[in-house]
Amino acid sequence: MIPEKEGLKPGLSRSRPRSEGKAAHPLATELTRRLGSRKVLSSLSERRNYRYDAIQFGVTPVCVVLPETTADVVLVMQAARRAGVPVVGRGAASGLSGGAAPMQEAVVVSFTRMTALAVFPERREALAQPGVITLKVSEAARPYGLIYPPDPASFRTSTIGGNLGENAGGPLCFKYGVTGDYVRGLEVVDADGEVHVLGRDAYDLPGLLIGSEGTLGLITAATLRLTPPPRHTRTLLANFAEVGACAEAVSAAIAAGAVPSKLEFMDRACVGAVEDYLGLGLPRAAEAVLLVDTDGDDLDTVQEELALVEAACQAAGGEVRRAATDSESAALWQARRSVSPALGRIRPQRMNEDIVVPRSVLPEVVRRIRALGDESGFHLVQFGHIGDGNLHPNILFDPRRESMEAVHDLAHRIALVAIQHGGVLSGEHGIGTMKRDFMRDAVDPVTLDVLRDVKRALDPAGALNPGKVLPDPERADAGEAANAHS
Ligand SMILES: Cc1cc2nc3c(=O)[nH]c(=O)nc-3n(C[C@H](O)[C@H](O)[C@H](O)COP(=O)(O)OP(=O)(O)OC[C@H]3O[C@@H](n4cnc5c(N)ncnc54)[C@H](O)[C@@H]3O)c2cc1C
Repeated sequence: MIPEKEGLKPGLSRSRPRSEGKAAHPLATELTRRLGSRKVLSSLSERRNYRYDAIQFGVTPVCVVLPETTADVVLVMQAARRAGVPVVGRGAASGLSGGAAPMQEAVVVSFTRMTALAVFPERREALAQPGVITLKVSEAARPYGLIYPPDPASFRTSTIGGNLGENAGGPLCFKYGVTGDYVRGLEVVDADGEVHVLGRDAYDLPGLLIGSEGTLGLITAATLRLTPPPRHTRTLLANFAEVGACAEAVSAAIAAGAVPSKLEFMDRACVGAVEDYLGLGLPRAAEAVLLVDTDGDDLDTVQEELALVEAACQAAGGEVRRAATDSESAALWQARRSVSPALGRIRPQRMNEDIVVPRSVLPEVVRRIRALGDESGFHLVQFGHIGDGNLHPNILFDPRRESMEAVHDLAHRIALVAIQHGGVLSGEHGIGTMKRDFMRDAVDPVTLDVLRDVKRALDPAGALNPGKVLPDPERADAGEAANAHS
């Protein structure tokens, strides 16, 4: 049994490095002997690079394995189990909830060398190893007239393994679905080092693995569904004097039968940040900006759908601008894609929340979060996939000057607003360490026990990515009620 040590506070905490001794850990020595030094990083300077993801600093791993085959992964799992050392899977470490950061002494299995990718156009499928960069799947499929739609903004760096670990989404997911919707089957190495090839039939075990953040098994291959790309796409931008009108327009457009492929929202603070960065001529005075794409194979239908959205925006008091050319459309989407670097210029760090609420309560939720931001004194911006009610309130901060406690407190208050409005903690970034303690607010104690039972059934020793997703059972689950900060 691997003892579960105390995890760190969620998000961005810098731990005092452990497992930093100069002498090689016996497991590192064994893995180096059996796999060769090319596949095992054991020097302190190398290992230190693998203790974090995009939001969380964790503990320096005892060693890092760069497997090239499923057999390598099996060997690591079995050796780690015998040594009583946990295993943490890692893709590109672009995760925003702490998933890939080891929270106690562990072996990190970094999948960056498992990058084999094959396209089977006749089946409209791709077979990908976990280290394949997300964008590469579409690049490989395009010559056959196919694409892979899931499009996290990080798609140039994130990996298929990490996307599966978090069930990643992106702007296209309102119409086309998230990562899990494109999985036909998985190859998984379990906590005992056994290999399973899983299809999506009874009990849908791939469905259980997808979004489990490396806590139930390590994915070593995925069969992904591909689709033909739409022939035509049209874009519009609408700006509103209030967020409520923007949400109303979205609901009205969908009720009228439009299924836009992208429906993205930016608040005034977010538009201001992007304008300061790129100066694209976005409407700075607007309280809410909506960016919409409609797409399809029949141009008339695509235009009609755009007209439905346009009419709904205008009826809600919005001002609408259609992109006249492909390059104008590209410039508008450049604005949305530039949110991350634009925010990086304001403060060196940010905590990126990922709540999902019913669309009907979005105006109230955006207003409450704005008020929380103003009260807290933090620079806070909001944007997100409004069609799905998936909102990303971002708390921008400077860790040298601002208290991490205060950042966490504001993140917690935002989570509680979502829960109080019938929402959930995460749409696409996962729970990780960042929202692990908030699970007590979001999930009732009986259901939390069921989740722990599932974890125990698949990973009885707690060997896979400990300290993630499920709050520490030693503390009472019913401790923090959802209205604690109302
Ligand atoms: C600028 C920026 C923009 C982003 N935009 C989006 C966005 O639009 N949509 C979105 O959904 N996310 C977004 N993200 C978050 C992040 O990119 C995604 O969560 C992505 O899926 C993580 O992929 P990764 O390869 O970096 O995984 P990592 O961060 O390395 O790992 C993520 C999780 O998956 C687990 N894991 C990794 N590989 C495996 C495997 N083979 N088997 C089992 N578990 C595994 C890890 O243990 C961890 O828990 C963004 C991040 C950044 C920095």
